[in-house]
Amino acid sequence: MTEPGRRWDLHCHTVYSDGTETPRELIRQARRLALAGVAITDHDTTRGWSDARAASAQMGVALLPGAELTTDDDGVSVHLLAYAFDRGNPTITGLYEATRRARMARARRMVERISKDYPITWDDVLVQVRQGSSTTVGRPHIADALVKAGIYASRSEAFAGICSSSSPYYIPTPSPGTLQALHAVKTAHGVAVVAHAGSRARNRVLLSDAQIDELADNGLDGLEVWHRENDADQRERLLTVARRRGLLVTGGSDWHGAGKPNRLGENATDSYTVGEIMRRAGYSPSAPKPTGCVVSEPTIA
Ligand code: AMP
Ligand code: ZN
Ligand code: FE
Ligand code: FE
Repeated sequence: MTEPGRRWDLHCHTVYSDGTETPRELIRQARRLALAGVAITDHDTTRGWSDARAASAQMGVALLPGAELTTDDDGVSVHLLAYAFDRGNPTITGLYEATRRARMARARRMVERISKDYPITWDDVLVQVRQGSSTTVGRPHIADALVKAGIYASRSEAFAGICSSSSPYYIPTPSPGTLQALHAVKTAHGVAVVAHAGSRARNRVLLSDAQIDELADNGLDGLEVWHRENDADQRERLLTVARRRGLLVTGGSDWHGAGKPNRLGENATDSYTVGEIMRRAGYSPSAPKPTGCVVSEPTIA
């Protein structure tokens, strides 16, 4: 445990993906909890960074900008947390923009399937999307539409039913390979951490030690050990691999506002580890590194 005020929550989602709160509300709640800082890690996007930076400067809660990239590692779905990368680097921008576009098409196809049996339309899903084309659309928005239609009482109930990965309506998230994503993060001078690698709730088969070794050989920086979905055995396994490979150990809540029971700050990372992440990325919160080039933000249809 680190002392209060020196804890960072390095895994938080906002309305720019499938969280229910704005980046400003994230920073406000972090201040109320006396966290030293938070990372904004929306799925496959950096669009929330500007709002989060403005709120961070105003409210005196430090910010580590990041994103959570969904990837595929030999059939295992991996969530790669990428921190303080150069958001203007076309390699990484191209990767997550392509994923966002594919995610949108996949969500539409899922809704087409669902609408054969239940009274929801694609427009009902879009109503649940808070930042228009700047939001990464996923199953949670479909779940919210099902709640609005009165089919379920909560997002979590929808995830236990129609939105579950074992439901007949499910279509997997289109994902680039983990090594490709890792190389993109490194090319953009970011720091890469595998999120919740021990979560049995997400994968029937978990990422093996050999797979983590291969990622470590290719520049992986750390493992998110402190996460509610890693059970005690998995935490022990991940800590053992981290020690053997000299990987950073992080923690985060995977906060989604009201969208999930996860409480902000319920898992955290110590300031020394966050300092090391910033050092590796050449990042200073008071003077964020300039982007290598200006990238126009493509509109997603
Ligand atoms: P997708 O990436 O579109 O397949 O949707 C899966 C995402 O839904 C994961 O990143 C989860 O964190 C997120 N999610 C948000 N709210 C919930 C919930 N109540 N139950 C399960 N997953 C959720
Ligand atoms: Zn999410
Ligand atoms: Fe995740
Ligand atoms: Fe997450």
